Amino acid sequence: MVDMETLTSLCKRRGIIFQSSEIYGGLNGFWDFGPVGVELKRRVKESWWQRMVRSRDDVVGIDTSIIAHPRTWIASGHVKSFADPMIDCKKCKRRFRADDISEKKCPECGGELTDVRQFNLMFETNVGAVKDNSSLAYLRPETCQSIFTQFKNVQLIGRKKVPFGIAQIGKAFRNEITPRNFIFRSREFEQMEMEFFCHDKESSTWYEYWVAERFDWFKSLGIKEKGLRLRPHAKDELAHYAKGCTDVEFEMPFGWSEMEGIADRGNYDLSQHIEHSGKDLDYFDDATKEKYVPNVVETSVGVDRTCLAILVDAYREEEVKGEKRVVLGFAPHIAPVQVAVFPLSSKLSEKALTIHHELRKHFASDFDEAGSIGKRYRRHDEVGTPFCVTYDFDSENDHKVTIRDRDTMVQDRIAIDQLENYLAPLISP
Ligand code: ATP
Repeated sequence: MVDMETLTSLCKRRGIIFQSSEIYGGLNGFWDFGPVGVELKRRVKESWWQRMVRSRDDVVGIDTSIIAHPRTWIASGHVKSFADPMIDCKKCKRRFRADDISEKKCPECGGELTDVRQFNLMFETNVGAVKDNSSLAYLRPETCQSIFTQFKNVQLIGRKKVPFGIAQIGKAFRNEITPRNFIFRSREFEQMEMEFFCHDKESSTWYEYWVAERFDWFKSLGIKEKGLRLRPHAKDELAHYAKGCTDVEFEMPFGWSEMEGIADRGNYDLSQHIEHSGKDLDYFDDATKEKYVPNVVETSVGVDRTCLAILVDAYREEEVKGEKRVVLGFAPHIAPVQVAVFPLSSKLSEKALTIHHELRKHFASDFDEAGSIGKRYRRHDEVGTPFCVTYDFDSENDHKVTIRDRDTMVQDRIAIDQLENYLAPLISP
């Protein structure tokens, strides 16, 4: 399996992920996606949105503000208890998560440690010109609370009948004590969350359904099944209100790690907002004449963690003719660049560009004329481009191009006017 250092340096070298603010020495826990990485990230979000919202009749999407009324976070319990135990070193001032430290002295400098304190992970800010407690607000640590606070609007205006879900993709912020493992644990990240509102009597059936459905989505991204598993939480791990929770885990170079949580949360969240806002957030079922606060089954996954899983899963090294070949073996429908077009010589650029312009109407196509063909293949192996098309001098007469498969390295000769038909079934999910 690839180690994190190798992957981080490949990501930088190929414009997938950069350290944030690198010219100022970086900012711990923040990352920037480069021209290749942003395409991967978009594909992940598109795939989720297509599957969770557009292809379903029972889920709708929303897009809410990052800063919500601060009472939201009192109701949700975050102000009181969204905290990790923290220890500081009195000498070097370094800060650690208490559960990461077994020694009595600072692991960095041997200095004396403080007692364990609770550290709230929410980033604070102030809204408006006055900077005091009355203007205190938080950057959201998860996207789902606004789904609960907008539940009634969406349900009434959309005339949605329970069971139905509300989905959202957006940024979340957590002032993690020790961000680490590249983009796995950062301080700013994106979540894709869906809250599925249902009757109490049906919640365990929906919970089982969503666990299976979400596991299947990870497979649909091309991630190999042996690197994925489901981990149901033990009773003592569950929040007091939760009826069940299962994580989708992926085997990272640093061990099995949570990608997504699927939880049957009872009606805790809506009930909390009813209590704190004094508003009526229950549901009236026309057919049964029953009025109730719906249960919710939540699915919550990180975009960045999913991208990391795809990268780890895709990375491989091979030996070809005594040389190391690095390949990101992305499934073609997820690949940031799906097809790259090369002119063999700069004299052929114009014709090759025409092919690229045609192909990019249908696929993520890239045009590359820098360096030898061998160098271009290597570059595209490293960003995981599944197909490379070369326009050569023969193409002028036979109107065909060479198409090279990333995985087998086999080259085929295909008529230019057949390229789209040839590629479409190979690239579509
Ligand atoms: P962990 O135990 O790893 O901190 P969590 O259980 O607190 O995660 P949730 O609150 O369930 O995470 O958040 C749902 C999802 O959001 C996680 O499964 C993960 O994919 C993503 N996520 C949470 N925290 C981070 C982070 N600091 N960086 C990147 N992604 C994150």
